[in-house]
Amino acid sequence: MRPHLMTSPFVPVSPTIPSRSVGDTLLQIVPSAACLRCDVCCRFPERDSFLRPFFTADEIKTAIAAGLGPERFSSPDGAQIDLVPNPTGEGYVCPAFDSATSQCRIYDVRPLDCRLYPFALMWDATHAQVVLGWDTKCPYLRDLSSPLVNQAADDIAQWIEQDARAETLARYPRLIGRFQDDVIVLRTLPRVSKRLQQGKAWVATRALMPQDRARIEAALAVSAGYQSTPLAAASFAYHYIWRHRLTYFWADFHDHICLFAESPDGVFMVLPPLGAGPLAQPLAAAFRFMRERNGSSPVTRIENVSEACVDEVRALGYRVTAKEPDYLYYASDLADLSGESFKSPRAACNRFVREWGGVIEPYEHRDNRACVSLFHEWREQKQGAGADDWAWALLEDAAGAHETALSAALELGLTGAVVRVAGRIRAYTLGLWLYPSVFCVLLEVADREIIGLGPFVFREFCRQARAKGAWWINTMDDSGLPSLARSKQWYHPARLLPNSIVTES
Ligand code: SF4
Repeated sequence: MRPHLMTSPFVPVSPTIPSRSVGDTLLQIVPSAACLRCDVCCRFPERDSFLRPFFTADEIKTAIAAGLGPERFSSPDGAQIDLVPNPTGEGYVCPAFDSATSQCRIYDVRPLDCRLYPFALMWDATHAQVVLGWDTKCPYLRDLSSPLVNQAADDIAQWIEQDARAETLARYPRLIGRFQDDVIVLRTLPRVSKRLQQGKAWVATRALMPQDRARIEAALAVSAGYQSTPLAAASFAYHYIWRHRLTYFWADFHDHICLFAESPDGVFMVLPPLGAGPLAQPLAAAFRFMRERNGSSPVTRIENVSEACVDEVRALGYRVTAKEPDYLYYASDLADLSGESFKSPRAACNRFVREWGGVIEPYEHRDNRACVSLFHEWREQKQGAGADDWAWALLEDAAGAHETALSAALELGLTGAVVRVAGRIRAYTLGLWLYPSVFCVLLEVADREIIGLGPFVFREFCRQARAKGAWWINTMDDSGLPSLARSKQWYHPARLLPNSIVTES
């Protein structure tokens, strides 16, 4: 599942059999000539791609001895390699990859993860079995007849199922990737599966689907930590719209729903266990589950823990650290913009009305395409205005979130509005109700070349929310971006809502 280049002319390649295990080694499957013509392996679209190769502690030592910088590994005890910008094109490359020659500089000592490719180890969709798959991203394997692929799969499965390999995989569970539907399952690996599950409780997990919204909302409604603290994260849509970046799934521990997200680094929880009653047992079970899934990865944590949960969690011995707070405003402040402190946004709105006479209309599904197209224009405007690396990465990621929210607004319980200028949609916004008195503005995009349009669509959307009973408006956090923090402060928040991350001590 990790695209890599297999180009060494020194590797013996069978003319008829794509992959073979011989004794303790794996022979390479793809002829060098085929690799040199291909541009899939060792190159990645995102810096944090979950397809980056994983190196065990021994493989890190060997790779460093072969010339890779130690700074390329976040931990000497086993880590996915840190990618570098592609010097000859878009995206990122493995630092061992030589873009000029399309060769791996550490080919003879490349990690197991790379040696296996284009075969891949991953969990099946239910996370019950480890399987050997065939990554259809490799064009060479696509052209091979299935008897040859089957023979190679038998050889590799046999090789992987040996005790020494199973022990390595048990020590480094991150060598086994998450389920990908573009990897064709060829063999189950029962001995490896059994070894990985040894001493671990089997946990039934389910992929997060739109129909789980009612379940999550019901669990939030009875969770003590979310009865009075309107964090934006205490909603289904807030998480679901990021499913292009994270794999969400949930499990039930001690009658609490635990909502997990799988990132390139492993599994973490996006909210504390949700349900009625004390958190001690579900927290312990959830942390155990994450530890078992993540191995040595430091990713194990719970995000978006509200201030109402913090005392209980601390008393149980967990460590609590602050993350960026949500901005909470009086709905009346944002709807009226009255008084000296709101003079600037009020003037901006007035100017827009004077010049364009804007009217806000409800967002409807048929507006989807125009809004997506506006998002891309807006992103270019922001990037052209000099976004820093972090802001740039957020903007790149945000496209998928906006597309999901716009296309599934109804299913996600979102309400929205658009503003047309000269007959074209030039602003849109989407939000949701956290409580009957708290409305959350989830997304907002406005043509930056039309002065006052941003403040106008925000004010009008808040007016609509106030008319429907909102006392508070939550605009989420500022993602640590100074420019976003400035624009949120411009509207004088009534409160910054504490938000915490919980880890094991
Ligand atoms: S270690 Fe070598 S084979 Fe593996 S991704 Fe990096 S360049 Fe490619």
